[in-house]
Amino acid sequence: MRLPLLPLTALLVGLTAPLGSQVPAAPPLAILGATLWDGTGAPAVPDAVVLVQDGTVTCAGTRRACPVPRNATRVDATGRWLLPGLIDTHVHLLFRVGGRTDPSLRTDLRDLLARGITTVRDMGTNPSRLREEVDSAGPAAPRVFAMQLVAGIRFFGPERERTEDGFIRMHAPQANGMRQLGWFPLMLTTASEAPEVVQKAIAGGAIGLKLYQDLDSAQVAALVQAAHAVGMPVWGHAWVQPASVLEQATAGQDGVVHAAGLVGELLDHYARDSLRTSSYLLRITADSATGTSAHAPAVLAALDTLAARGTFLEPTLHVAELSARRAGAHRRPVPTLPDRYALAAGTFGVAVTREAVARGVRLTAGTDHTAYGPPSERAMLTEELRLFVDSLGLAPARALLAATRDAAIAIGPVAKDLGTIAPGKRADLLLLRADPLADITNLTQVEWVMREGVPRSPRDAVPPPP
Ligand SMILES: [Zn+2]
Repeated sequence: MRLPLLPLTALLVGLTAPLGSQVPAAPPLAILGATLWDGTGAPAVPDAVVLVQDGTVTCAGTRRACPVPRNATRVDATGRWLLPGLIDTHVHLLFRVGGRTDPSLRTDLRDLLARGITTVRDMGTNPSRLREEVDSAGPAAPRVFAMQLVAGIRFFGPERERTEDGFIRMHAPQANGMRQLGWFPLMLTTASEAPEVVQKAIAGGAIGLKLYQDLDSAQVAALVQAAHAVGMPVWGHAWVQPASVLEQATAGQDGVVHAAGLVGELLDHYARDSLRTSSYLLRITADSATGTSAHAPAVLAALDTLAARGTFLEPTLHVAELSARRAGAHRRPVPTLPDRYALAAGTFGVAVTREAVARGVRLTAGTDHTAYGPPSERAMLTEELRLFVDSLGLAPARALLAATRDAAIAIGPVAKDLGTIAPGKRADLLLLRADPLADITNLTQVEWVMREGVPRSPRDAVPPPP
């Protein structure tokens, strides 16, 4: 007997469904008739079949390649596009307000899933506390991997800054601001402490290290060696003062974030070492980062090293565009330093990333999205991918790889069964009503999103206005 095709709505679990409401594991699910873009780099398959059993993909391809089991629950996806659930490799989820976790975390998690994002990498908050919060938020959320922030000793102490008019200004330790948010940076005093830092990161539940500031190339190398010895990836800001991007890549770091940070390649070691306070950093970027300096030999040498070593670049273009747009809207007769910085960083970051693409650097799509503040000011993965197409000139399929297959590789071994639709991979799927390969903005046309075999409607997912 041939089982009838079920309307999709019969299978969907609401995003607001209570904890534990799951589609029964057996029988298998057969998603029929969609155009399948599986994220492996292969061309799209029309009129495809994807079989899912117990939250895992068991077959994906043509009707001939994937015979539908007699007992399968059939889902009609004719006229739709099926792709892997999206991965944002750079978010910050945990924010403490008045000593408590900001309640917008839960709304934000639901909203991310509703937008088709089934996995995120938190690039530094507080891994153990974040784990507790995510676990208690229920199943209508992306899978969350957390990185451990690491910085050098000066990040944890007060700083002196000589102002332009010759005065000395004292700054509170930068780590204090982070701790007020409830974040938990670890301090590396000397390179020999690297194994201890890695053990602390593991104990907190982190899956990798995110290097932040005040680390030299020997310290970066020691952290990379200690982390890689236990299978942990190491990422970091593009330059960690004084270590440059070229030094980070040479030390074996797995990825660098923020394309605008390659401005550090234009400076010598002494300048990189002395530019710790934020106003110095803003000034040097505002003065040095231009569309022209993005092609300077030192920047190109760093990009070539990234390409040669397979080091990822996560450019974070949308967050830079949001900042530049705000700065441009101010229209002051004499732009402020933060505005000059935002405009310079935006232009420079795009130009650097275009060079990176031309030189074969691997990209991953991370946004610097925050689960905090006005929703309109939060960087979004769909917008990052729009910029990959519009500003970098990538084909939509190429842009999508940076938020699927390559994003999973960027996260590391813990994400080895994510990012593509293939036998043995987790059934993290996104069904769209319009073709994202023709127009990347069609990523917003979400029909349903599935995490590990559980499909959910995006209805009710838009957070209420703040
Ligand atoms: Zn960030």
